[in-house]
Amino acid sequence: KNVDWNRFVDTLSGVEVIRDRPQVEKLSKDYYYFSPILQTQLADKTADLVVRPKSEAEVLAVAKACVAERIPLTVRGAGTGNYGQCIPLAGGVILDLSRLNAVKWVKPGMACVEAGAKLAAIDKVTQPQGWEIRMYPSTYRTATIGGFIGGGSGGIGSIMYGQLRDRGNLNAVRVVTLEDEPRVLELRGDDVQQVNHAYGTNGIITELEIPLGPVYPWAEVIVTFDNFMTAARFGQALGDTDGLIKKLISVHAAPIPSYFAGLKAYLPEGCHAALLMVAEPSMELFQELVKEFGGTVTYHKPAEETGKKTLLAEFTWNHTTLHARNVDPSLTYLQTLFPYDPELKLVQHMHEHFGDEVMMHLEFFRVGGAVIPAALQLVRFSTPERLQAIIDYHEANGALIANPHTYLLEDGGMKTINPVQVDFKAQVDPYGLLNPGKMRGWLERMAG
Ligand code: FAD
Repeated sequence: KNVDWNRFVDTLSGVEVIRDRPQVEKLSKDYYYFSPILQTQLADKTADLVVRPKSEAEVLAVAKACVAERIPLTVRGAGTGNYGQCIPLAGGVILDLSRLNAVKWVKPGMACVEAGAKLAAIDKVTQPQGWEIRMYPSTYRTATIGGFIGGGSGGIGSIMYGQLRDRGNLNAVRVVTLEDEPRVLELRGDDVQQVNHAYGTNGIITELEIPLGPVYPWAEVIVTFDNFMTAARFGQALGDTDGLIKKLISVHAAPIPSYFAGLKAYLPEGCHAALLMVAEPSMELFQELVKEFGGTVTYHKPAEETGKKTLLAEFTWNHTTLHARNVDPSLTYLQTLFPYDPELKLVQHMHEHFGDEVMMHLEFFRVGGAVIPAALQLVRFSTPERLQAIIDYHEANGALIANPHTYLLEDGGMKTINPVQVDFKAQVDPYGLLNPGKMRGWLERMAG
């Protein structure tokens, strides 16, 4: 489609526009390259230009201009997604919301923030008042709250509060539509699920009300083990011990700890390791659990020293993959949900079945009241066919794979089309301009 971009920019008087080619290319990308499959599919996808609004009124102006010319619009927070969520498949405009970043108010247990606010920046405002965001990805320092809701799932804190998709973890949103006359809608209650984790395909979130949790003094702890399954069962037991307050239970089979150069001093060669965040007042009785499992505490950074230097969390969740790929760029990863089983039999089976080809990395979190391990296994990639065979084997044995090697919303998640989100798109984005090509439910509906 031929667009007169100079004229388009003129209609946006006052809104910051980026047209410098290298910058536009950079702002068209995320961390899709963790996947060798997405690398080949997305490397050449670039927007025509980037706009960076500072207010909801400016977002409305951009929306109106895009609808008028039928220009695709893809929302971007910080671009730390892993599945090419914010990479524009059909060119057009990138709407970079990083300047829409105010914390509007904080009340006990709740904050109202603009979508481009960085997660760490929100905590900086709320923590002195005794409250903090309930969960964050390991990209805490860079990711935005809008991007986390749009494209993330959970992370540090999910052992207490579950995932972003769980009722109670997102209170309300303001959403700009892409109708002929764009509107601002306020969604509250279960209506927030219409846009929660929709890759920005059915509305531009400009503002969110997010529930907060009480601040604890969080200690960072590493416990090492001689045996992987003992480490895994220790993780499960810590998760199941409700009286011990914790925010992170991340368990790594050898040789994964050897990829953590910054933690070398605390990770003896060949060890299996649990990287943890435990509330300082729980530390004394936590030591009893460590003793019970025969673990060794090799690192304990007290709460008053955390926040200084390296954050332990930045070795967990998908930062594990990042550190491993820094050492060996041929590595990729999987995302697996294991069924609830305190004995971890399927984890053990997969660990033994694949051996060094699929290195076990578990993140414990809470699902429907039960603690289960999610895995972000490191995979020694050989061919796409072999990767698919590994995925198929997991699914045939009852472990659900949230496939990180697809940019399609549904295929990367629960596999099922969410008709509520597709209906909402039909209502607010009738021309299908928002992040086109990412929502399978919409593509199928359009194909009839
Ligand atoms: P972006 O990547 O910019 O956007 C993500 C998606 O949301 C895109 O589809 C975009 O179009 C959409 N979007 C962005 N803003 C809006 C908006 N205002 N309205 C509507 N749609 C919007 N994720 C986890 O869940 N947990 C983790 O622990 C985790 N660890 C990671 C570790 C590493 C090293 C990396 C590279 C990624 C990790 N991720 C993780 C993925 C990602 O960092 C997070 O999901 C992050 O919260 C995304 O935020 P962002 O601002 O970078 O979003």
